[in-house]
Amino acid sequence: MDVLDFDFYERLKKDYQQHKSIFVAYDYDNTVFDYHNQGISYIKIIGLLRVCKSLGFTLILFTGNEGDQLEIIKEDLINRNIPYDLINENPLMKTRKPYYNILLDDRAGLKEAYYNLKKLTNDIRNKKF
Ligand SMILES: [Mg+2]
Repeated sequence: MDVLDFDFYERLKKDYQQHKSIFVAYDYDNTVFDYHNQGISYIKIIGLLRVCKSLGFTLILFTGNEGDQLEIIKEDLINRNIPYDLINENPLMKTRKPYYNILLDDRAGLKEAYYNLKKLTNDIRNKKF
């Protein structure tokens, strides 16, 4: 079996079934925030993050922003009701590689990640497992 044949959704579902929760990491610029001011709506991603929160998933914002900029971002997340549990922190291990079961990032297969995570939350809400 080739690694590219691996079923992304089945793995995510297994992660959830084992722990009854998952770690969802997300990016800020161009994932939940319109950095280039292009009039892009991030409401689908933000809505999904809210559903994830309601299901008890752990949400981690991973961003390259630091210092004052990070304070502005925290305020923005609160103002727009975008949930987060951790910022730039690994939930399980003290390592520099960000840890997560799924990543929402405009530079990392956002569309595929979104639809797989959306399917997981739908299946949980519809009590499919
Ligand atoms: Mg980005």
